[in-house]
Amino acid sequence: MKAAATILLTSMIMAASAPVNYKLAEFEHKVGQIMIELKQKGWKPKINEQFRSVKRQKELVKKGFSTTMRSKHLCGLAVDIIDKRYLWNIPIKHQFWKDLGAAARKYGLTWGGDWRRFVDVAHVESKRGC
Ligand SMILES: [Zn+2]
Repeated sequence: MKAAATILLTSMIMAASAPVNYKLAEFEHKVGQIMIELKQKGWKPKINEQFRSVKRQKELVKKGFSTTMRSKHLCGLAVDIIDKRYLWNIPIKHQFWKDLGAAARKYGLTWGGDWRRFVDVAHVESKRGC
């Protein structure tokens, strides 16, 4: 009975804290699925960046690599995925980016290649807010 009570209490605590990390866990699970699909297609995908500090985000905006201080990288709900053989040195119409975009859409994520104002082909983010 004691052990059962402990397990029950533990699962209650876990359930109570779940919403806090749910968005991140869900996003990371989907990113994991995207990585598997890309590997199955013969790509060598690499998550280049997920979490970003405010300082780093400011630097990227200053250099023109980002346009916002409200980036989902600040809370980990965005990743940049590249093929480690090509990095960013391939055209934006390259099949790797197309496959990345298709996989992101399949899992209900936003792909930066679909943006009009600032096309960001390596970028994948959650539709949920930070
Ligand atoms: Zn990004």
